[in-house]
Amino acid sequence: MVKQKAYAKINLGLDVLRRRPDGYHEVKMIMQTVDICDELTFEKREEPGIGFQIEGADLPADENNLVYRAAALLMEKRQIREGVSITLQKRIPIAAGMAGGSADAAAALRGLNDLFGMGYSVEELQEIGVTLGADIPYCIQGGTMLSEGIGEILTPLSVPPACHLVIAKPDIGVSTAFVYGHLQADRLSFHPDIDGMAAALAAGDLKGITDRMGNVLETVTVKEYPIIDRLKQMMCDLGAENALMSGSGPTVFGIYQEKQTAEKAAAAIREEEPASAIFVTRFVKGVVYGS
Ligand code: ATP
Repeated sequence: MVKQKAYAKINLGLDVLRRRPDGYHEVKMIMQTVDICDELTFEKREEPGIGFQIEGADLPADENNLVYRAAALLMEKRQIREGVSITLQKRIPIAAGMAGGSADAAAALRGLNDLFGMGYSVEELQEIGVTLGADIPYCIQGGTMLSEGIGEILTPLSVPPACHLVIAKPDIGVSTAFVYGHLQADRLSFHPDIDGMAAALAAGDLKGITDRMGNVLETVTVKEYPIIDRLKQMMCDLGAENALMSGSGPTVFGIYQEKQTAEKAAAAIREEEPASAIFVTRFVKGVVYGS
């Protein structure tokens, strides 16, 4: 049996440079793994094909699920005749802007690669992963990364200094396709300073990082869901260095110097927004996989 953890991410910075003629958006993002994860197990079985069970969420366990699609793709490529039974224990909020589906798909690629001894390298898994979703190459290893192109050009960055996070996901799901579809990439009046943030990460300068937090997708999602701005404001009023929407939203995260301040802020937000999923967590390095 093989087990894999699938970690959620947040975006410390998210910029969109342009919409390409083929409809994809060219991005420049700083991705960071957080300590919230799904767990997947993989077991060989005699019956051919893919058996798939999901615990902890009401999600389709069929070809619509990225785990199933990732598994089917690898097994087809390597003409695997044995079967596999996959279990997904879901904890990452869904349609949240935390790349839960991409993290699961990446974990499925790693898990099947190991279970069947396929011998794919990290780079090869990333190349296969990008055909299923732009965030999947990053999710193969996670950690702190600059992500460019459509998400396939990855450059490791320094891990941020120790700090504490409050993550709040209001009780609404946001479609990533809707947000990118409504983004006016050529009319953005603000672009976050991603290069400056990378330099602040290299210098271990937490204030330099938090001062540069920005996400151009807020221009679309916040207009639809004003609760995002309210959560950001609440987090800052409750002592965050800064707060931002992650990915296409609606999840908001705040960065705190002290754990106690973060815990107090989370408790106060729970009182005001009881329907939100709220976590106090921290940044983690990502998955140790490959060389
Ligand atoms: P991203 O940050 O990459 O945009 P997200 O956090 O916004 O991702 P996900 O939770 O990854 O969104 O999923 C979005 C949609 O994808 C869900 O509504 C669901 O129907 C579908 N999906 C397919 N496979 C999965 C999976 N394994 N986990 C969660 N959602 C999945």
